[in-house]
Amino acid sequence: MTVTVRFAPSPTGRIHIGNARTALFNWLFAMNNKGRFIQRFDDTDIARSKQEFADSILYDLHWLGIFPDATDYQSRRFEIYDAAVEKLKAARLLYPCYETPEELDLRRKVRRTRGLPPVYGREALTLTTEQVAEYRSDGRRPHWRFLLPNFTSDPQQPERTEVHWNDLVRGEETVDLASLSDPVLVREDGTYLYTLPSVVDDIDMGVSHVIRGDDHVTNTGVQISIFKALGAEPPVFGHHNLLTTTTGEGLSKRSGALSIESLREDGIEPMAVASLAVLVGTSENVTAAHDLNELAGHFDPAATSKSAAKFDPDELFVLNRSLLHHLSFEEARDRLMVLGISGDKAEPFWMAVRGNLDRLADAVTWWRILSEGPPEPAEFSGEDRDFLNQAFDVLPEEPWNGTVWKDWTGKIKEATGRKGKPLFMPLRLALTGRTAGPELSDLLPLMGREGTLARRP
Ligand code: GLU
Repeated sequence: MTVTVRFAPSPTGRIHIGNARTALFNWLFAMNNKGRFIQRFDDTDIARSKQEFADSILYDLHWLGIFPDATDYQSRRFEIYDAAVEKLKAARLLYPCYETPEELDLRRKVRRTRGLPPVYGREALTLTTEQVAEYRSDGRRPHWRFLLPNFTSDPQQPERTEVHWNDLVRGEETVDLASLSDPVLVREDGTYLYTLPSVVDDIDMGVSHVIRGDDHVTNTGVQISIFKALGAEPPVFGHHNLLTTTTGEGLSKRSGALSIESLREDGIEPMAVASLAVLVGTSENVTAAHDLNELAGHFDPAATSKSAAKFDPDELFVLNRSLLHHLSFEEARDRLMVLGISGDKAEPFWMAVRGNLDRLADAVTWWRILSEGPPEPAEFSGEDRDFLNQAFDVLPEEPWNGTVWKDWTGKIKEATGRKGKPLFMPLRLALTGRTAGPELSDLLPLMGREGTLARRP
């Protein structure tokens, strides 16, 4: 059996790091099992779903290194769902209900005051033909509920019915079907809720493993029953913990918070996002993996904690720095070229500055400092100015070799008697306009003698 997974977001907004976590769990699982990854857009809610969001989700996935083997849209598959509905109706497992939301609400309250669980009491099953005719003549249209298999012979007498599965992440799981209402699968206007189309697609697309957020655990009890009602073997399920902000709030696609797009625009490397998205809330240390192959080696769904994982965006920068510090020139070359950094000096420049970057684009600042000088010359006290003049007087003649910095500072020490910070800090400020940055021994050869002299205060 080919392992087949799917990532099934609704295209109602940009995906955030929590959604990316689900996509990556599926992708890495497929990688580790030589499986297939299907991109499925759950766009049965036509009003809120937009093609531009689907496109942006695909773009974000590609950016992360996920290239689906197939892409499909639920909105193009209604006929298949209609056929499943007919099958369930024929088996009397889908029944029409006429209650309004207000009536349902009232019933729930009544059940609560009687100490009964606030689940749907299946009143629709007891309607007489006259009552149905009356509703219809009033213009009411039915919504359709799936009859959960939680009774022996009388649906009005539900009894504890456990659905079990061995969850890839959480281990043994149990849902009691008697604790649930019969789910509405089709609305009054004939539109589908997510529950049925998802099962129909998972069957039709041969999905072997459903890996998704743990907000779907209860759904799984229901959906396993629907798989069986449609005569199919349920897939293996895995429910991973959800990410929250540092203050414990859930992430929302609609708010745009921590969207993959905003992280990309903020200069975060895709592997920083992927590493944190996959490893946060697991027993693995969160370190930056160089690529998805390496990350796949650290990925173990069973090592994921059952409780929510707090996601701290600052950690992204820690990983980002670590990735940039190890990014070879070959890997950086094309991206640097786009930023206008090319030519003979590009490689030594990259090797000199990469250890100081928060974002790759910050290289431009250093490139400018080196080619044009500090944007604003630093201010010096009279004493430091004298020191610097003496220092520039003893700048070695060209040709320079790898020891020029050492040679120069040796001469400065001799000429001025300064050493340590009082020697280095004014030089750094004069040469770069900054108090910190890459090693001056690496930068000096890139400035050249002429460029260095041009920085004399
Ligand atoms: N569209 C559903 C969601 O985004 C998919 C859940 C699933 O993977 O089955 O929550």
